[in-house]
Order: sequence, then C-alpha cells, then structure tokens
Amino acid sequence: MDDIAKVVKEHTFGTWRKQRDWNPITVTKAEGVYFYDSQGKRYLDLSSQLVNVNLGYGNKRVIESIKEQLDKLQYISPAFATEVRMKAVKSLLKVMPRSITKFFFSTSGTEANEAAIKIARLVKNPKYKIIARYRSYHGSTYGSISLTGDYRRWFAEPHIPGGVVRIPEPYCFRCPLKLKYPDCNLACANYVEYVIRNEHNVAGIILEPITGTNGVVVPPKEYLPTVRKIANENDVLFIADEVMTGWGRTEEWFAVNTWGIEPDILTTAKSATASYVPIGITGVSKEIGEFFEDNFFAHGHTFEAHPISLSAIPAVIEEFERLDLLSHVKAMGKYLGERLMELKERHKSIGDVRGVGLFWAVEFVKDKNNTPFATYEDKYKGNTSSVDKVAKKLLDEGVYVFNGPSWFVISPPLIIKKEEIDEAIDKLDKVISELDKEYR
Ligand code: PLP
Repeated sequence: MDDIAKVVKEHTFGTWRKQRDWNPITVTKAEGVYFYDSQGKRYLDLSSQLVNVNLGYGNKRVIESIKEQLDKLQYISPAFATEVRMKAVKSLLKVMPRSITKFFFSTSGTEANEAAIKIARLVKNPKYKIIARYRSYHGSTYGSISLTGDYRRWFAEPHIPGGVVRIPEPYCFRCPLKLKYPDCNLACANYVEYVIRNEHNVAGIILEPITGTNGVVVPPKEYLPTVRKIANENDVLFIADEVMTGWGRTEEWFAVNTWGIEPDILTTAKSATASYVPIGITGVSKEIGEFFEDNFFAHGHTFEAHPISLSAIPAVIEEFERLDLLSHVKAMGKYLGERLMELKERHKSIGDVRGVGLFWAVEFVKDKNNTPFATYEDKYKGNTSSVDKVAKKLLDEGVYVFNGPSWFVISPPLIIKKEEIDEAIDKLDKVISELDKEYR
C-alpha cells in the first residue's frame, strides 16, 4: 500500500467488508476501458466498476457538458425550474419506456428505490406491502436494504416495520423451487399471484428485470410479462429497478424493453450520467403523476435535481446516438458471449455462463453437483472464497472484475472493442485454471 492508500484506509471506511481485509490500490487516472494505479500499472475494467461506467473513462463531450453547467449555475433549490432540468427531462422522455412520464431526481440508486416505495405506499394507501425477491439488491439505506433479499440485509435487521414480502426468483441454474424450465410452467412467476391474494395489502412489486449483483440472472422469456400481467390484474404497482440494467447494458436502453414491459415506476441511477456525477432517478407513470396533483408529494432532498448531475444526462444520450452504442453492444455482446462459452467448454469449474448484451455472469462450481465455492452465509461471516482469490489474481494480471461468492460479473464499458475482449478472455482463461485445480 502506498502513502495515499494508507491514509485512505486509516481514516475512511472500506464498505461491505471487515476493515482489516481492505487493502486498496491507489488509482490515479483512467481512459477508455482502462484505469491506472500509482505505479503506472494498467488494468482493463471488465466490470465497469460497479456496472456503472458504461461510457468508459474520459468522455470529452460529457465532461464538457458538466463544465458548461458549472460555469452557468452550480446549485439552486429544487423548488425552482432550470433549463438543465428541462433538457434532462426531455432527453429522458426519448429513451424511457412510454409509460414513464414524470421524474424525481436524487443522487443514488438507493435513494431512487427509497422514493419508489414511498410513492407506491402513498399512491396505494392503505395498501402498504411491497413484494421483493430473495436474490436481489436494491440499496443500502434502511428502506432499500429492507427490500434487498440477499445476505446484505441480514446486517440491517430488524428492517422497516411492516411490509416487505419476499418471493423466490427465476434462477433456473439453481431453481429455488427445485423445478426445471419449461416444465415448471413458470411456478415462480405464478406464485406472485398467490402471495398478493394472501397478503392482501400489497402496494407494489419491485424487481431487477435481470438480477445484477446477485449473479446476472436472466429470467425465462415468459417471466416478466407474466408478473406484469398479475400486477395489473391485482392493482399492484410494477416497479422495475433498472439501477444496474439500464443505459444500454442489455442492448436496449432499459432491460424491460426486451420484453415490451411498461412499468408503473422505473428506478435508475449509475450510468444515467455515465458516472461522471452522482444521480438517482425515480420515474413514474402519468397516473401516478396525476395522483400527486391533489395529494402531498411528501419527499425531497437538498441535492435533489442537482444541476450538475442533470447536465450529464443529455450528453450521455447524445453520446449513445453518436456512437450508435446500442448496435455496438449487440455486436460486442454476441462476441463476448461466444468467447465466454468457449471458456466454459475448456474449464470444468465453470458451471454456467449466462447473460445478454454486455451483461454476463460466469458462475463457478467445485464439483459435478454444481456446489458453489462459497455461499451468502460465507459472505456474511466475512470469509474469503477461492473465487475472491482468483479475482485478486486476475487483478494482478491487469484485469478487474467485480465478483460474488461464486461468480464473476462480466460487464465491461459499452465502448469495449473486440481486441480488448480478447485480452480479457486470455487472462480469464489463465486464472480460471486455478479453480479447475480445486474441482473434485
Ligand atoms: N439497485 C440495484 C439493482 C443495484 O445494483 C444497486 C447497486 O448496485 C442499487 C439499487 C443501489 O444503488 P446505489 O449503489 O447507487 O445506491
């Protein structure tokens, strides 16, 4: 650790870990799909950090747009209108699902989801329960962590009083209902109706259209349309958490577009500004917007609708258009998928490769029964797994991936080129052999 990292470690928190285990590398600059440490070592970013640096590093147009806004107006209370807010909204309306027509701007995905559950409860009052899935992450503050289904919520119990009901997820590689698609007849989706009827006071259902940090779980094609239909028929709001899946990651502006789903509420964050500045966005339908005409919108922050955050949004969308990025993601996604499948052929410790666009998971197993290298219980106890160690080895080789207990999330910046994918695959090929040695 250099002197910078020592001060950072001693006086700030390394999150989601025991502090003793945190050995940060000092990063000094970044460009394109690469970042560099203080020793000048180069790393290929194969995860877009936390799946949020979708345009890569050093995009001049986005930077210019932010600088222009800084010169004009750095802050004004959100009670005032600004040109930058108008422009951000007009750009968003071009790319959002048609159902979404009104926005609340905050500064993170966590806050976007906090606002979403508050809105759902206000609109559907006296109904107040929210359905969420076990294999999910929706944020870290009390409301959002109460929605979250994975082990991270265990640290924050007891949760917000009343109201989050969890359901199993469409994780076909390890079906929680021990069924097999398609013979299962979408039991996990149909179960939603049973839960709504028996819980009675359900205001909304929140789900990541493609589960993100919990291993890029792409649902079977009928899953989301079935859940959307059940929500409609039972007067329950459908909340799509597109914090990670939005902004071209899945070849579409938003993952719900893949299935033609029109959500009642859509939350997003991360790459809405390509991570040049923080943002959280809670988009709602016309009906929800109208509800608040005569009902108090009881929510807000000092940094809500911050002009600097908003200034990046139109520039990001223009960059997608200028670079024809959705087509690029489609082409590179196909190539990346094929290359990852080749790895699966070569490595017995790869149990599953799944994904869409530039959003993939490589899930590792340590035997023919698909036993994972580590579980959520291990993460909860702070244990390090072989997959963590191999991710660290990959970093030493100059490739960064974000990993779960038994999988890598492969989600490079959307601007990645074929030769950069090849570079990453070569290094993955090398380090995954370490896991093969543990396969029994
Ligand atoms: N929702 C999803 C699906 C996420 O993946 C994340 C973060 O990874 C969040 C919400 C929380 O967003 P943030 O970290 O910006 O608060």
